[in-house]
Amino acid sequence: PWEIEKEIIAKLQQKYKDIDPSSIQKFSDLPLCRKTQQGLQAADYKFPTDVQKNSIHPALLGRDILGAAKTGSGKTLAFLLPVLEGLWRLQWSQQDGLGALIITPTRELAYQIFEVLRKVGKKHDFSAGLVIGGKDVTEESQQIYRTNIVICTPGRLLQHMDETAYFEATNLQILVLDEADRILDLGFAATMNAIIQNLPPTRQTMLFSATQTKSVKDLARLSLKNPVYISVHEHH
Ligand code: ADP
Ligand code: MG
Repeated sequence: PWEIEKEIIAKLQQKYKDIDPSSIQKFSDLPLCRKTQQGLQAADYKFPTDVQKNSIHPALLGRDILGAAKTGSGKTLAFLLPVLEGLWRLQWSQQDGLGALIITPTRELAYQIFEVLRKVGKKHDFSAGLVIGGKDVTEESQQIYRTNIVICTPGRLLQHMDETAYFEATNLQILVLDEADRILDLGFAATMNAIIQNLPPTRQTMLFSATQTKSVKDLARLSLKNPVYISVHEHH
């Protein structure tokens, strides 16, 4: 029931403040809800990587994140876990529509993120979908607003914003820009600016990139508010 759920949420939120981030060794040390912990266990994820350790905690506190970490460092869970927790804290449900939008440069990456989300999010009740083209655009745009977590490529998303009479993302809580440097390398700077202008300003944004180029910094300035900077270097 809702009253009990509210108490559980309040207790976890209190833990966000009490926890010492440097003491985090296992995922079970993080104040994540039971559904997320079960998803992590089922997928056999036990120990967070450095980028996960550093970004999940401030993201749970609602901070914007500007993360720099190489390919293979585990950025997917670094943003998916705060997405799941953020929507869970709000008790997001089917009627609430689009709550989190994840933008990634290619279809291939979108599929990969979707697969990880399916695994770690399987105990949650959120709907999730891919918006990457290849489907009828009108059919897809009817789906987009009803889906809780949308993973998309920038060109296809902009097509929806341009071709539908209005882009209904007024409820959006969380925006993730994955592999921002690659998005920009593919020539999507103007597209990203247009997308961000179409999104509600009161939201949490997490931007991840392998490199910090000038164009990434420009995009960060446009999309983030007072972000926590996370830079993870390789250990040898
Ligand atoms: P990135 O987006 O930074 O390139 P990914 O999120 O795709 O990295 O993760 C790279 C690989 O590491 C994937 O195969 C993923 O399953 C694995 N991985 C990520 N986090 C963990 C973890 N905490 N424990 C074990 N494996 C992990
Ligand atoms: Mg990645």
